[in-house]
Amino acid sequence: MKTWQIIFLIFLIAGSIYVINRSTPYKSNSGKIFGTYYNIIYQSDKELHDAIKATLAQVDGSLSTFNKQSVISAINNNKDITPDEMFTRVFTLAQDISQKTDGAFDITVAPLVNAWGFGFKNGLPTDSAAIDSLRQYVGYATVALQNGKIAKQHPQTMLDCSAIAKGFGCDMVARTLEKAGVANYMVEIGGEIVAKGQNDKGKSWAVGINKPIDDRTGENKSLQEIVRISGKSMATSGNYRNFRYEGSRKVSHTINPKSGYPVNHSLLSATVIADDCATADALATAFMVMGVDKAMEFCNSDASIDAYFIYSDNEGNLLTSETDGFKNYR
Ligand code: ADP
Ligand code: MG
Repeated sequence: MKTWQIIFLIFLIAGSIYVINRSTPYKSNSGKIFGTYYNIIYQSDKELHDAIKATLAQVDGSLSTFNKQSVISAINNNKDITPDEMFTRVFTLAQDISQKTDGAFDITVAPLVNAWGFGFKNGLPTDSAAIDSLRQYVGYATVALQNGKIAKQHPQTMLDCSAIAKGFGCDMVARTLEKAGVANYMVEIGGEIVAKGQNDKGKSWAVGINKPIDDRTGENKSLQEIVRISGKSMATSGNYRNFRYEGSRKVSHTINPKSGYPVNHSLLSATVIADDCATADALATAFMVMGVDKAMEFCNSDASIDAYFIYSDNEGNLLTSETDGFKNYR
């Protein structure tokens, strides 16, 4: 082929891609899952909501403690079952993150989460004797995969994947979209996000980080920061949406698995950017337990993780800090 022919061909291909990209519409699907909402935007000629719903139903059937028929509920009720592949994958990832965060993230925290009234069972007394007796059933090292089944040292131990399931759900929906040939999409479940390619304006997807203002209704959405992500996942954990007051004490839904008590320090929200959303989700929760200094140390030792923290000083002013790599997402 002559040079001009090659150049002509390149222009022809580039032009076709441009025309196809411009003409394929963006679709938007939303609904309810895991007690929260999902919003999915993708560029496709095909309507994919049914496939998305099927994927989400599969995640719910495997990992939701609020679904009494789910695999995780069967394990919590000590039924002798072999978990599905999805459960095994998430369990293995959760155990790995527990190890890396020295137990700050721990899915065996369920009995404590329930006692404090944020779980799938009604709250229990939370005097120090009660918390101490529950702590013996909490510890990721006391559960393991053995011959494809979950083996527990204590039958009282229960699992709670709430801090990783939303992120994992985003990863699974992204995979469903990829399989359907979608190149440009944003998947969001309850604030956890996977984004790839471009939005309908031809730019990286823009997502907001909420100001950590106490807001149980979820209506007060003023933004602290706008982040642009593509080919990455982002998750935020905070103690400004799910909490209650006992007297003047704020009881948050993030529990320190070692002390048995809800975390109560100056860190108000942790936003994590990672390659997959399950990891981002779990680390965001772990960082809320670890506090800014330890979390920052963790990020500095892992180049694939970036994070942004909002915390308050003694006078109640909001301060922020971020990893060096985080500025690449602005
Ligand atoms: P949100 O996105 O709503 O802030 P998170 O991803 O932070 O939620 O998950 C919070 C939930 O995770 C709690 O409601 C509880 O069920 C569970 N959880 C609380 N503390 C821990 C912990 N230390 N490790 C793992 N899961 C936790
Ligand atoms: Mg989380």
